[in-house]
Amino acid sequence: MSQRHGRSSQQVRTDTQGIGSSSSSSSGGGGSGAQIQIQSRLQGIRSDLSSASELLEQAIRSCTVTALDLTETDAADKVDELDLTLRQLLDTQHMVKLEQELVGQTAHAADLESAAPRYTRAWEKERSAYSEKSNAEKYATSALYREFKQQIWDLKHDGEPMPRLFHAGGGGEEESDEDLVISGAKLTYKCPVSQSWLIDPMTSKLCGHSFSKDAILAYVRSQRGGSAKCPVGGCASIISPRDLFSDAVLERKVAHHLRQLEQEEASVAYTMVQ
Ligand SMILES: [Zn+2]
Repeated sequence: MSQRHGRSSQQVRTDTQGIGSSSSSSSGGGGSGAQIQIQSRLQGIRSDLSSASELLEQAIRSCTVTALDLTETDAADKVDELDLTLRQLLDTQHMVKLEQELVGQTAHAADLESAAPRYTRAWEKERSAYSEKSNAEKYATSALYREFKQQIWDLKHDGEPMPRLFHAGGGGEEESDEDLVISGAKLTYKCPVSQSWLIDPMTSKLCGHSFSKDAILAYVRSQRGGSAKCPVGGCASIISPRDLFSDAVLERKVAHHLRQLEQEEASVAYTMVQ
């Protein structure tokens, strides 16, 4: 209990529980002092989260700038990758802002003991609500994302109006998400969970589908019972961490594929200079 400098929310939760139990067992009088200490620490966390949110916004803008540079060199693959990275940054930013709000509420709560479980419930509820939103709801409403798309569009379509983001051709909202239509060869090197290039790929012994290690483990562990239906559409396998192996061969293939892409881009850039 001598580590007092940490500011992780995990630690605060632990401390909050500690206060609840110690205030009843201690000789009394120390409770309010401890409560004030926790509240000021929560305010500190809230301000750290606010800084994190700003940094994320900077990162999102950097993505836009980089995407524009890449659009000029016709590196469409890399732009698509940045598009997905940007969406992940927006997801993270959403969660950081949510945490900021909830920590703020907790810091102002009169009774910390009941505030802690309320915080946890609200967090879980909001997180699952967000995960159920469509791409249009998550990203088309974001000014940062619209700016990213608009700028790239303008670079290639001088003066033409940009089509609606994530527009639905027919009835289904997600059906015509053109950004997720990736041609066959590339698709095999992308993780079906993170939608990004495979990182530390793991392959299922049961169905042969491959995923980025962090993404699939987080996905599987987030499910009840620590196992989950394979995230690949149409695959009925139930995957648990022990069904996955680190796929070093695939890792090499991905690295090779990415090197090839870079060479192609380099040669395209060279041809354009010629
Ligand atoms: Zn599968």
